[in-house]
Order: sequence, then C-alpha cells, then structure tokens
Amino acid sequence: MKKIALHWQILIALVLAILFGIFFQNQVKYISWMGEVFLRALKMIIIPLILSSIISGVSNIGNAENLGRLGAKTILYYIMTSTIAIITGLILVNIIKPGVGADLNLAQAVHLDVEPDSLGTTLIKIIPDNIFQSFSSNTQMLSVIFFALLFGFFITRADKKYSSVLSDFFNAVFEVMMKVTLFIIKFTPFGIFGLVAEKVAQQSDLFALMQSMGLYMGTVILALVIHGIITLPLITSLIGKVNPVKQFNAVKTPLITAFSTSSSGATLPLTMEAVENNSGVSNKITSFTLPLGATINMDGTALYECVAVIFIAQAYGMELSVVQQIIVVITALLASIGAAGVPMAGLVMITIILTAVGLPLEGVGLILAVDRILDMFRTATNVWSDSCGAVIIAKSEGEKLKV
Ligand code: ASP
Repeated sequence: MKKIALHWQILIALVLAILFGIFFQNQVKYISWMGEVFLRALKMIIIPLILSSIISGVSNIGNAENLGRLGAKTILYYIMTSTIAIITGLILVNIIKPGVGADLNLAQAVHLDVEPDSLGTTLIKIIPDNIFQSFSSNTQMLSVIFFALLFGFFITRADKKYSSVLSDFFNAVFEVMMKVTLFIIKFTPFGIFGLVAEKVAQQSDLFALMQSMGLYMGTVILALVIHGIITLPLITSLIGKVNPVKQFNAVKTPLITAFSTSSSGATLPLTMEAVENNSGVSNKITSFTLPLGATINMDGTALYECVAVIFIAQAYGMELSVVQQIIVVITALLASIGAAGVPMAGLVMITIILTAVGLPLEGVGLILAVDRILDMFRTATNVWSDSCGAVIIAKSEGEKLKV
C-alpha cells in the first residue's frame, strides 16, 4: 500500500467501497467501524490543531518586522479575497442547489433539540465563560478560535523571555499536530472504505447519490474556477497593477505541486522560490506574506466550506435562514483561517460550521468520499491567492517586479 500515492489509494478504496456496498449490503456492519474510527480520529485532533495553528500563526506575525503596515495590508487582502470567494460559493450553491432533492435517507436523521442561536447570541458566545468547557465541548469552536487569536496576539506583547518560550512551544505543538494529522490522513482510504460502503449499502438509489455528488463537485469546482480565473486576476491587475497572465506563468510549478500534494504547507518552499525568482518579489515580503498565507489565507478552502455546509443542509432538508447563512460566511472565513495547510484540513474544519448552524457532525460523512478530489482544486486556489497577494503587496510597497 505504501508505494501507491494516497489519491490512488483513496480512489481504489472508493471503488472497493462502492462494490462492497452494492454486493455485500448485509456484511457492511462488519466494516462500518472503520469509518467511525476515522471520523473519531478527525474529531480528536480538532481542538489541539486549531489551538496550535492559530496561536503559532498569530505569534509568528508578531515577531515579523514591519508588523503594523505590512500586517494590516496582508490581513486586509486575505480577508477580502476569502470573503469574495465565500460569497461566490454561496451564490452558486444557492442557485444550483446541488443537495436539494438528493434522497440520501438523511432527512429523518436530524434531531434539533435546541433552537439555533441568533446571530447576536452567537457573537456574544464567541467569548467563552469557561475556556476549558469550550475545549471539551464540540459546540464551542468559535470560542476556541477567539481565545487562540487573543492568546497568540498577547504572546507577542509579553516580555521577551516569556514570549519566545511560548511561541517556540506553540510552534512545536503545531509541528507535532501537523504530523499527527498527516498520520491520520494515511488512514483515509480505510475511513473512506468504511463510510462509503455503509452509505452505498443504505442507498436504494445509487444513481441519485452519484448525481447529487456530481452536482456538488461541479458547484465547488465552478465556483473555484470563477474565483481563480476571474476574481483573483481582476484584483491582481486592478489593485496590484500586475499582469495576471504573467503571474500565472511565474507560479505554474507551485500551482501544479499544490494540486498534486493538496498541501499549501508542503508547497510553500516552491511558492516562495517562484514568487521571488520568477515574479521578482523581495525576500522580505515573500518570507512574511507567504508562510502566513499558507497558514491563514485559504480562499479555496473558505469557498469550499461554505458550499459543503449548505450542500449538507440541503441534503438534510434544512432551509438555512439568512442569519444562519451569515453565520456560515463568518465561520467559513474563521475556519479557513484556522485550517492547517495540510491535505483535508478543510474537512476537519467543516465540523465547526456544522456545529455553529446546528447541523449534525455526521454530515461530514456525506462529502468525505469526494473530499480528496476537491482538496486538489481548493489547495491550488489557496496557493494561487497567496502568490497574487505577495505581488500585490510588493507592488504597493514600491517594489519593481518581473511580472
Ligand atoms: N489542503 C488545503 C491546503 O493545504 C487545506 C484544506 O484542506 O482545505 O491548503
């Protein structure tokens, strides 16, 4: 198994799962535990992953030179492009409605014991009254993110002898958490096998499942393409006064790498090399914006989270109110900031949004099967946005570029 690339393993698992689900419907109970184990492992790492990635990310910004001006511009670009990406996804998923009418035997599985909070209450509850309770609850991810942002920021304000210990510590924890995540991801083929076989066995109408997943994938990919070939090039040429076609040619290699590794983090050295040598951005700007971007600027992930959550809601037959859709936009932005630049990090983060709008976490099981394929497209979009951001910021700092 080791020598076969993960995406092939996943593809094989997918095919086997479908066959198993069709031909061994009654035996599925013997293998469905694999899916459950995999989902539990994903849930297990949510809290430590969010904590360490955000704290280390934010405290690393604080250590950078020119934090104020450069930081403000960078963050503004990240938030602006990610928000536009989310809205692109939101519009398309509301028009195409890939989940509506999808007979996934799920509509009856929703048990909404509590009314979802209003936006006001949700915002107030971002501030935890007991942070340890938030850590141990699956329903208070926003509080955990808020606390991590605050903690990371004030690490940079603490006395040098304390701040260096803490930022080293959280960088180290993050490093380990990435390894744990990658380790868990190795089991994806088994997880997918268990979950998909179970889903297929439950399906009376397999064709409807394929049809609705195809529409869902098409929606995500179409929105990503619009963002990647219309929105980002427009921003790059209008705000950055940079030729987007030249910039695209400059970063082709990192884009292909991002597509095939599904990891912004793993692609980072290539992105930095390309933006520096081919686009002509100074090392000062690439070393600040690109590592930060690989961690927190994820347009593709943000867009995907929004489409996926609304798809799940549609499949469950839940009509999301305007307030709930606004919550999806905000939490998708936060979740994309909190997602690590590793394969399928976005999938883990979806649970935050599901929780925020009161959808069952098991909804993740619905989109898991096609996640790895969509991950390739969204990671390429993430890296493309990082690289556009670097040239726009360099241009605004008066640098002379090659693109
Ligand atoms: N794989 C993505 C990245 O590395 C994150 C995600 O899962 O959305 O950029």
